[in-house]
Amino acid sequence: MRKPLSLPGQPTIGGVAFVQHQRFECVEIRPHTTRDGRHIELTRWLGHCTDCGAPFDLVTPRRAGAVRVDRRRCAEHRDPKRRVKVLAGAEA
Ligand SMILES: [Zn+2]
Repeated sequence: MRKPLSLPGQPTIGGVAFVQHQRFECVEIRPHTTRDGRHIELTRWLGHCTDCGAPFDLVTPRRAGAVRVDRRRCAEHRDPKRRVKVLAGAEA
């Protein structure tokens, strides 16, 4: 069974979390106003592309519980149809 790919919903700046073997660091927490006028907070994570290692940003809403990870590659290698291969034995 496949584990859901998720990060903690309310990290602190500088906090590190792993999705499988991929490291994400919380680098910013910022206020955001949604299109319907609600004030929320967003977390910006810094990750590294699973293909080439280039840094990229991942933004998730701040909320209790876990948030889903929908990005694991840089803009150049982003392709939602292609699954990330997990290196054998590389567990976080
Ligand atoms: Zn890449």
